[in-house]
Amino acid sequence: MPDELHTTVAERLRGVGQRYTSQRRALVELLAETRHPLSIPDVLVLDGELAQSSVYRNLAVLTQAGAVHRVVTTDDFARYELAEDLTHHHHHLICSACGGVEDYTASPQLERTVARAITEVSTATGFTPEHHRLDLIGICAACA
Ligand SMILES: [Zn+2]
Ligand SMILES: [Zn+2]
Ligand SMILES: [Zn+2]
Repeated sequence: MPDELHTTVAERLRGVGQRYTSQRRALVELLAETRHPLSIPDVLVLDGELAQSSVYRNLAVLTQAGAVHRVVTTDDFARYELAEDLTHHHHHLICSACGGVEDYTASPQLERTVARAITEVSTATGFTPEHHRLDLIGICAACA
């Protein structure tokens, strides 16, 4: 676990007037270790010492601080992961049948294709993009 990650998360929490409590640290460590978007039930299974109400509240605070990203899914279970600038740029494959969420890292070639498409949108609209999120919603291989 790199100390740099904790230093950055602590700074972001300070920015929104929050402290880096031991519970928040435990959540960040869990998300860093699993390297996979987790739902709150996933978190409760992986760390039996955390209480549901505090997990919900602490993830909301970490999301507000910009340390955690909430993946928007089609089911009731939101998924959480470390913010992309703390890990690496990637996309999501969201299954609307089982609610599963998989990370997908695109090839540099595919990212260049996306960048070209974004330039087209930017030229047409005058909107200045800073980064992008591209999540696919559909049916996963297991459910197909
Ligand atoms: Zn599925
Ligand atoms: Zn992800
Ligand atoms: Zn991308």
